[in-house]
Amino acid sequence: MGRVYNFSAGPAVLPEEVLKEAAEEMLDYKGTGMSVMEMSHRSKAYEEIIQTAEKDLRELMNIPDNYKVLFLQGGASQQFAMIPMNLMKNKVADYIITGQWAKKAYQEAQIYGKANAIASSADKTFSYIPDCSDLPISEDADYVYICENNTIYGTKFKTLPNTKGKTLVADVSSCFLSEPVDVTKYGVIYGGVQKNIGPAGVVIVIIREDLITEDTLPGTPTMLKYKIHADNASLYNTPPAYGIYICGKVFQWLKRKGGLEAMKKYNEEKAKILYDFLDESKMFQGTVRKEDRSLMNVPFVTGNEELDAKFVKEAKAAGFENLKGHRTVGGMRASIYNAMPKEGVEALVAFMKKFEAENTK
Ligand SMILES: *Cc1c(COP(=O)(O)O)cnc(C)c1O
Repeated sequence: MGRVYNFSAGPAVLPEEVLKEAAEEMLDYKGTGMSVMEMSHRSKAYEEIIQTAEKDLRELMNIPDNYKVLFLQGGASQQFAMIPMNLMKNKVADYIITGQWAKKAYQEAQIYGKANAIASSADKTFSYIPDCSDLPISEDADYVYICENNTIYGTKFKTLPNTKGKTLVADVSSCFLSEPVDVTKYGVIYGGVQKNIGPAGVVIVIIREDLITEDTLPGTPTMLKYKIHADNASLYNTPPAYGIYICGKVFQWLKRKGGLEAMKKYNEEKAKILYDFLDESKMFQGTVRKEDRSLMNVPFVTGNEELDAKFVKEAKAAGFENLKGHRTVGGMRASIYNAMPKEGVEALVAFMKKFEAENTK
């Protein structure tokens, strides 16, 4: 049994080269006689792993010196609480609701202060990104929050919202390192790594230094303070050490591929193959407004639930895994992250064409 084309939304496909390297180093990491899993996080060898990972990420994203890079635990969902606990000085924040992950973050923030939903695309099942050029940003908002790429619905912010000078906080879990970003436009960029970077269990937080203060909400646990992790270079306690090691290998893989400019070009080519077919097919349709389409997550439907189910079943038998759409959208979703090769998307489209021909009278 060989490897399948894995279109999972997350945990998701990783570069084969990285998995092979990790396998080779499994029993004896670079002459240490042990696996990275068995190694002290205070050891010389591990210090080099985490420091190199940070250095490579800084290089890939061109992260300015006045931003900290933190490797934390608890997934993206833990940040839903950590962000208000650390940033809500006035106890006011504005949220743009473009899907379930943004909504969950918004609901969590309500525990800690006044969270305002200043825009939403719930009226059309989150199939578009609302116009964010002139929103009613609260005068005393501590930050404006977005989920930049909506994993479930397949939408992406192509222009960042006009925050009218307020700090922008973005969940980039499902578009992390898929294209270049201007880090200076954000106060906080964060994401769970299991979509586009590595194994579940690591969340990366890139945060502007002036936002890291002692002044957190009363009752904030030590482990949920950005400052403690920043002061200890992500080694306050035992970090998700093996996961960070794999992330580091993916950063090196991305550098070998030519960095984020090259990734963007490759991702655009890949997504175009699928979107072009969806636009010409009589059977399959995309569900997202064209200008808001994600390069990473591509939902589509036939308009007939039975036919959708038949497609997912036959695709699986043909080696295309995890194409079933999220339960709230139905239909199908192909997640085509960085590590999905172009051949995988070409093979999927060829399969869809064949399925359409066989099921059209
Ligand atoms: C998957 C996902 C999450 C949740 O991540 P966890 O690590 O499971 O908490 C949050 N936001 C986005 C955009 C996601 O895709």
